[in-house]
Amino acid sequence: NRQIYFMERPHGTPDENTFELRSSDIPEPGPGEVLLRTVYLSVDPYMRGRMSDQKSYVAAPFELNEVLSGGAVGQVEISNDDRFQAGDLVLGDLVLGNLGWQDYSVVKADQLNKIDANLASPSAYLGVLGMPGLTAYFGLLDIGQPQAGETVVVSGAAGAVGTIVGQIAKIKGARVVGIAGSGEKVRYLKEELGFDAVINYKTENVQKALEKACPNGVDVYFDNVGGEISDAVATLFNKFARIPICGQISLYNLKNPEHGPRVQTSLLINSALMKGFIVADYQSRFPEGVKQLGEWVAQGKIVFQENIVEGLENTPQAFLGLFKGENLGKQLVKVSDV
Ligand code: NDP
Repeated sequence: NRQIYFMERPHGTPDENTFELRSSDIPEPGPGEVLLRTVYLSVDPYMRGRMSDQKSYVAAPFELNEVLSGGAVGQVEISNDDRFQAGDLVLGDLVLGNLGWQDYSVVKADQLNKIDANLASPSAYLGVLGMPGLTAYFGLLDIGQPQAGETVVVSGAAGAVGTIVGQIAKIKGARVVGIAGSGEKVRYLKEELGFDAVINYKTENVQKALEKACPNGVDVYFDNVGGEISDAVATLFNKFARIPICGQISLYNLKNPEHGPRVQTSLLINSALMKGFIVADYQSRFPEGVKQLGEWVAQGKIVFQENIVEGLENTPQAFLGLFKGENLGKQLVKVSDV
């Protein structure tokens, strides 16, 4: 049973010293437990926060010298609980997953949720129908509240959350402007997802490009990245703009905090609302979100893209790739076949 351990708290960007691949025997399930074979692992930006020894936006820090954990889809190999049978596909906790970066896990049956592979591919439960999809759904609709004809800007637009945010905003009739980091991402968002305009922040002057792409200002800004990109968007807020703060990925690996322009005046003079949130705030409404996202996927109104790396041993690289923009859509690791 190969397992990836957390070895060292990163100062700045995590690297190969952060992780170690080890092997142990396949564990045996006790009463009320299930032995799972990992099929897909999800790597997510929030995990960087849990690698630091301080409060992050999600959960307690990862413990050193322990197997890392996150979202995963597993297949039951042995079940000592009536609710599960060998062959069932399952998911851990909907927000954190809490399944290990390992080939096999023993898990208490009451921590698992069965998934229906007839409704959607197993991997979709880690993306559009899982934590990232729910983040997009509740952050955009509950805080952003986009109206037909309004301008919605989303940063981190080509990622797991951003691609869903943009498509929901289009469903609501908004004009959608994305900000992303490569020519291929710009093309995908425009041509495949129908974004109205997309800015490549690595090659364009973001301020000028935004002014051109948002001639009527910005009504909703769904912020996934923070930093200079968000400073530029803040200069274009309209009266009563809404700004869901979902993530600040451009800051997660900084060694020293950065002080940017202050946005409070822009919020004040525009009576704008900026609100942070974590997806777990909406736990009681998850069934509504999964149902609606599932309907949109079934109707072809939302399409989704996955970037799949093969092999458990490549999980650290897949995780680090999030900070280099290597993924288009949801980043996953395929560990074994269903
Ligand atoms: P993504 O799939 O969007 O992957 C991360 C992407 O961020 C990369 O592909 C990269 O794309 C972009 N990125 C990386 N570094 C930078 C940088 N320095 N500046 C600008 N962009 C950068 O991840 P998710 O969709 O899973 O998450 C998106 C955001 O949402 C993250 O900030 C995450 O922490 C947050 N989040 C918050 C949740 C909540 O409950 N509040 C829940 C889930 C996610 P590019 O090529 O465009 O640079």
